[in-house]
Parts: sequence; C-alpha cells; structure tokens
Amino acid sequence: MSKEITLVFNNEGLRSYIEVDLCAECPRQDDKGCCGFYSPVFYSADLAYLIINKPDLIDRIFSLERLTILDHSVTVNNIPEGRSYYCRFHSRTEGCLLDQPLRESICRHFVCSGIAWEDEEELVDWKNFIKALTDYEINLNQRLSEAMEAQGLTLRDSRRRNLYLERLVQLYRQETEHLPDFISKMPRQETYKLKRTLRFGTDWEL
Ligand code: SF4
Ligand code: SF4
Repeated sequence: MSKEITLVFNNEGLRSYIEVDLCAECPRQDDKGCCGFYSPVFYSADLAYLIINKPDLIDRIFSLERLTILDHSVTVNNIPEGRSYYCRFHSRTEGCLLDQPLRESICRHFVCSGIAWEDEEELVDWKNFIKALTDYEINLNQRLSEAMEAQGLTLRDSRRRNLYLERLVQLYRQETEHLPDFISKMPRQETYKLKRTLRFGTDWEL
C-alpha cells in the first residue's frame, strides 16, 4: 500500500523539530510507535530551556519515579508494557503530551527508518541542518557540563539542584546569545511530501 507522507521541518534553532503526519496513524498499529521503545534523556540545554520556558515541567520531571539522574542529565525511564514499553509522556489517544519544543532532541528530530527521509536528495539541506544542530548541541552540552563541574555542581545533589539549575540558566543564556550561522541560513519552516510503501506491525522499521 503506497501512502503520501507529509513532513514539516521547523527551524526553531536549538528547539527545531520535524513533524510527520503518519504518526497519527502509525503503521506499527500499537498506539505507541517509536515512543514505545524510548526513554527521553534531558541534557543541559534541554533543562535550561525548560527552566526558562516551562519550569513546572522541570518540577514534574524530578518528581517522577524511575529516573536515572547523572551529573548533568536526567533520563525518564520508560515502563515495560506488553512486548515493548511506554514513555511516561505518552498518551495512547493523544500521542506525546509535550509540545514539540519541550521535548528533548531525539524526540524532536527522530523519524523512523520506514520513512527514511534522509535518503531523499531534495532534503539534503535539512539532513545537513539536523546533523550540524546535533553536533552543535552535543558541544554546547559538553561546555555547560564542564562549567557546572568546575563549580562543583551536580544534578545528583538534590539539596543543591535549584542552585545548579539557576547557574545553568545563566551559562545557557551566555552561550546561546549568538547562535551559529547555519541556523539563520535555513528557512523557518518547509513542508515536503514523500511516497512510501507501508508495511504494518513490526514489519514497519523504527
Ligand atoms: S514509528 Fe514512524 S510513523 Fe510511527 S510514530 Fe514513530 S516516527 Fe511516527
Ligand atoms: S517524550 Fe514524547 S516523543 Fe519522546 S518518547 Fe516520550 S512520548 Fe515519545
């Protein structure tokens, strides 16, 4: 069965994301799709963004059980369910409960292998954009982590976590005052349509 799929690439700098209309009727047919196999990991740049834009979500994240809190990241571990898992932000009827910019990087950029948009020649600029953004974000997270380390701060210390987040926001604002040129060179939004042959259930590759 051949299907036309619409992808919308949104350039919102560090909060850029890809929308896929097929997700609403995911061929996996388990109401979870790729979200059934992932545990979101919030790194420094995500945490700083959330503190600035949605502080109650930070409170919610740290109040959850089954977290993996490392020095500079927090993983919201998924829960086993049937043959897969469920993400704590997922709803069977509404999909992800977080608005796109509030999601961590993998959740904002990931599109399953069944769609394989990176293979399309006309999408090479977006492929390069996502790659450059990923590299930039990894380096930014590294710099933020090192700066927090130098101040003797870690997310593991719950008593000083508020101080950690306060200092992190200051550093994040300084670091992101001027974003790299590759971001401003891409349009704010572009829509593409692809045709793919659908397979169903586990035959649809994540
Ligand atoms: S597996 Fe593909 S179609 Fe299904 S939810 Fe994930 S990205 Fe969307
Ligand atoms: S945070 Fe949202 S997009 Fe990410 S795995 Fe969970 S439900 Fe899916």
